Amino acid sequence: MEEARTRQLIEVTIDSLAEVGFVGSTLSQIASRAGVSPGLVAHYFGDKDGLLEATFRTLSRRIHERMQVRSVAARTPRGRIQAVIDANLASEEFDKRTGTAWLAFWGQVLHVHGLKRVQTAYQRRMLSNLVHALKKLVAASEAQSLAAMIAAMIDGVWLRAALSDWQEADSESARALLTAFVSGRLKESAQQDTVPAVTESHTPPQRKSDSFTTINPATGEVLAHLEIAGSAVIDTAVARAKAAQKKWAAMTGTERGRILRRAADLLRARNKELAELETRDTGKPIQETSVVDVISGADCLEYFAGVAPTICGEHLDLGTQAFGYTRREPLGVVAGIGAWNYPLQIACWKTAPALACGNAMIFKPSDLTPLTAMRLREVLDEAGLPDGVFQVVQGLGETGRLLTQHPGIDKVSLTGSVPTGKAVMAAAAQSLKHVTLELGGKSPLIVFDDAHIENAVSGAMLGNFYSAGEVCSNGTRVFVHRAIKARFVERLLARVSAMRIGDPLDPKTQVGSLISQAHLDKVLGYIARGRADGAKVLIGGNRVTTSDLANGFFVAPTVFDECHDEMAIVREEIFGPVMTLLDFQDENQVVARANATDFGLSAAVFTNDLTRAHRVIARLEAGTCWINHYNITPIELPFGGVKLSGLGRENGRAAIEHYTQLKSVYVAMGDVDAPY
Ligand code: NDP
Repeated sequence: MEEARTRQLIEVTIDSLAEVGFVGSTLSQIASRAGVSPGLVAHYFGDKDGLLEATFRTLSRRIHERMQVRSVAARTPRGRIQAVIDANLASEEFDKRTGTAWLAFWGQVLHVHGLKRVQTAYQRRMLSNLVHALKKLVAASEAQSLAAMIAAMIDGVWLRAALSDWQEADSESARALLTAFVSGRLKESAQQDTVPAVTESHTPPQRKSDSFTTINPATGEVLAHLEIAGSAVIDTAVARAKAAQKKWAAMTGTERGRILRRAADLLRARNKELAELETRDTGKPIQETSVVDVISGADCLEYFAGVAPTICGEHLDLGTQAFGYTRREPLGVVAGIGAWNYPLQIACWKTAPALACGNAMIFKPSDLTPLTAMRLREVLDEAGLPDGVFQVVQGLGETGRLLTQHPGIDKVSLTGSVPTGKAVMAAAAQSLKHVTLELGGKSPLIVFDDAHIENAVSGAMLGNFYSAGEVCSNGTRVFVHRAIKARFVERLLARVSAMRIGDPLDPKTQVGSLISQAHLDKVLGYIARGRADGAKVLIGGNRVTTSDLANGFFVAPTVFDECHDEMAIVREEIFGPVMTLLDFQDENQVVARANATDFGLSAAVFTNDLTRAHRVIARLEAGTCWINHYNITPIELPFGGVKLSGLGRENGRAAIEHYTQLKSVYVAMGDVDAPY
């Protein structure tokens, strides 16, 4: 009660400061606004100075809390500096009510001892956060002075905006100014040995400025060091994309399609080189990357090259006095953010439809697999794509966040995990950007008793062990009818035991490395959890470190039996080579169990009963389904999820709806009939 009362009095004080200023805000005036006696205000705060001190402590704590939330989310020192900038120059601080109260505060700091204390604590906190982050980027001596400069600029920019009655700058331009300043200073201090964006080397990097390293997860070999794109780089990229998009959209669909078609051919011609690079960056077997990753990307470019000239609106007959038509127009600048499991394919699946529809694309690959997206840019350049229509920016989640928040970007298409999907959607909501989200899954694969067992085993293996299980649509909950389970398991184990784990660049290798140490730990953690929960490992269940594999993150294909629906390994996405076997007898029951998940990406049914196949598929809550196959994704067929697995669709003509917007036009053919 007391807390609610003091909170109310503080809010009333902010209102009063905003409306009648410092001098007009007397204790009795505030008490009367709040509908309480001056004695009660004095009881809580002593005098006017006490009330003001409490008010500014509250305002300063709000900034601090905002800063902490952003700082925890940031994954780099540069991100933590940005958190300080963004929190202190947030739009709330440019709100007239809060801003005017702050101005009163600055005017009294020198005169009121309590306010000085608040200001000292606020400054100390900001400086220490800045110094802490800067020490990771520049020499310790420089960190102190640079922190003081940034703090002074934050206060200065805000004060100038406030004194100009918010005409000189708003929150966005103030943050952009500070961001550009910080990026410029950090660049200067790292200039002597800035790491080029795409060098290839075997020497472990010295971390300079904001950069990151990508390794071959199968060997630990360093592949490249790349610079992280901060605000200033993103601003420039968006400005270039905006200018380029207008010209690109003005070309005919046939002209755009011709360039995409050329890019498809160039990609195919470079299949060997690109597949090798993808294998080195992801740890996936060359056996896969040489027939899927690049080819699927090229297919997508070719498909949308054909679609580009066919994009159109419709004509609507509205009687003799009017007709209507719709125009299908591009959205503008699209940000594509990719996951690490199919880097080039994801880049193409987003870029091809976006470009076909006349948009520009700024693509950020995962920091774990940044290399092939840059090769796609080369290919598109060579195919004749105008400058700026497709750009690649490198970085971690913070760079992705900058894209999702940028006011110049009209749509975000993400492939990633569910938590990232939620964060992207929340950030995009601020400027009502369109979003497509391709997220995770825990999909069911149902094998009925009349299924072709060898095909069903093939499907289950493809749906669990391809790309070492790092596939979003994997059918990791394998429900097998009790009548055939023993035969199914026998064949499954015989075939899994013959799988070859090894050097991903060896064409005979079928199982490569997981993407990273952290992901290896996660997958092994789930395997341990499965054992602890009582599931039985039929095969695999261990890391593989034999011969040359000790430096990589290899896990043997693993099959768990004796699982039940509540186990973590059955409910949660593992994203590794881990299959869980479940049995069933009744169709209704297995459908209910298959649907008992928050995910809804994919599902499959193996049966030779035609009507059952379609009946069951119709009841499964999943966006992408297969009958008697698994994980096959032709470009012609839309791909995407329902429930927590995502929004929107990639591929097929359906993708066009997610990269265009409709304009409706009414055309009058007669006079205007107005009642006045
Ligand atoms: P993450 O969600 O961790 O990352 C996806 C991308 O988003 C990365 O480029 C990442 O940057 C970036 N990112 C992270 N945080 C933010 C943020 N706050 N704002 C904007 N961008 C951000 O997924 P993973 O890369 O780990 O990929 C695995 C996940 O992707 C799995 O859950 C899998 O199911 C899903 N997936 C879904 C597919 C589908 O089509 N449905 C296909 C493939 C994977 P960085 O990593 O560089 O920090």
